[in-house]
Amino acid sequence: MHRIAIIGAGPSGFFLADKLLSQAEIPVAVDLFERLPTPYGLVRYGVAPDHEKIRNVTRTFDKVAARPGFRFFGNVEIGKHVTLEELRHYYHLIAFTTGAQTDRRMGIPGEDLPGSHTATEFVAWYNGHPDYRDREFDLSGERVAVVGVGNVAVDVARILARAHDELVTTDLADHALDALKASGVREVHLLGRRGPAQAAFTNPEVKELGELAGADVSAHEHEVTLDELSAAALAAEDDATTRKKLEILADYAKREASGRPRRLMLRFLVSPVEILERNGRVSGIRLARNRLVKSGDDLKAEPTGEFEDLPVDLVFRSVGYRGVALPGLPFDEKRGTVPNEKGRVIDPADRSPLTGHYVSGWIKRGPSGASGTNKPDAAETAESMLEDAAAGRTLSPDQEDIAPLLRERQPHLVDWSAWQRLNQAESTAGSATGRPRVKHTRIAEMLRAVGLAVKAD
Ligand code: NAP
Repeated sequence: MHRIAIIGAGPSGFFLADKLLSQAEIPVAVDLFERLPTPYGLVRYGVAPDHEKIRNVTRTFDKVAARPGFRFFGNVEIGKHVTLEELRHYYHLIAFTTGAQTDRRMGIPGEDLPGSHTATEFVAWYNGHPDYRDREFDLSGERVAVVGVGNVAVDVARILARAHDELVTTDLADHALDALKASGVREVHLLGRRGPAQAAFTNPEVKELGELAGADVSAHEHEVTLDELSAAALAAEDDATTRKKLEILADYAKREASGRPRRLMLRFLVSPVEILERNGRVSGIRLARNRLVKSGDDLKAEPTGEFEDLPVDLVFRSVGYRGVALPGLPFDEKRGTVPNEKGRVIDPADRSPLTGHYVSGWIKRGPSGASGTNKPDAAETAESMLEDAAAGRTLSPDQEDIAPLLRERQPHLVDWSAWQRLNQAESTAGSATGRPRVKHTRIAEMLRAVGLAVKAD
């Protein structure tokens, strides 16, 4: 029996566990470690609350958890309760599925002013992530800029633009529901540095912006009109998806305001160069207007020399997540990933594999794709792991079951049955109010709900 540790219980961790446990050739037992008491990673703390259907993937994860040989060790932090060195004494193979836990920066003046935030922290806050429970966002101003035109930017813009009635039926965290109800936000500007054809958002997501009950969506005609280079690229690739995206945006540029209380503005070919300050906080954002130029096979933004100052009270930068280095493993600072070959962690100097260590998901390939994209990625890593196990290329553990050590180090370890009790408590509270669940947002609250008594925090 090969004992396998997977670190990080997000979608990648579950997809990898699934691949490993659903084969019979190499008998394995999988322990899934998670720093938080709750599983599912970005499916719980990233997916927008008004996209409840996407969360249905947790049913697949629950089936994985029901497989013989699976154990969940929640509320256990590697490096705090147990070290990687210790894990090497208990496991033949160790895989890291820790995702991309921080965000990229724009690198412009004013980025750290009060009122300038990352989209990732706002998302974690409204989704009830315990680390972000006490963050404060001043939503009293009328105008917000969201930098970036990926799906995370769209999520943030949509949540800011939604009417309270639309949110109250979701599992958006109670503290965020209250803050958003009192929000003074009237205008949200989404800022793309390249053109509409290069926007990273997907069509269903951008289409949904045009269907909000409480907000009018608009765009400038000249910014959504295709430039020559993009038109040539589109014709060469015969890209129906991008054509559809352009149609949606052209329709937004033609729309007249219908008097809905909020306005969503989609902007293109503008790059933030400075966040402006008044009285010690954000008062606006200076934008450089861009044109597109060829850069290898791609098109990149180049400043035209013209500027525009957009008055805003709040800025969310949504320019991509970024992986964090894992102690004891090599790290590619530029890409924010762990160097690997087909999921095998490698020494970047000579590309030799680090026996027994693997990665999957965003820490392996970078922060791209929806949760399902991590399935084929997990299949590749699982194949490498099973191949190595079959060939005897594993660590040589001298200890067997790690559970007693973990329970000694972390008396508040949350196993799968404890998580199920928490899940049940949240769902029951949700049913009483017509919501999918009411999330517990503090760790002490979660532990009390599953009968692990801890002092109030
Ligand atoms: P993303 O798709 O990579 O988008 C990042 C955006 O930031 C791009 O528009 C990028 O523009 C822009 N950007 C990067 N650096 C910038 C800078 N310095 N100044 C201005 N703009 C800059 O990342 P994401 O939105 O964080 O999403 C991560 C992944 O999760 C994506 O694959 C996304 O589809 C997925 N996701 C999916 C859903 C869903 O399916 N509903 C929801 C949320 C997230 P350039 O293209 O010019 O670099």
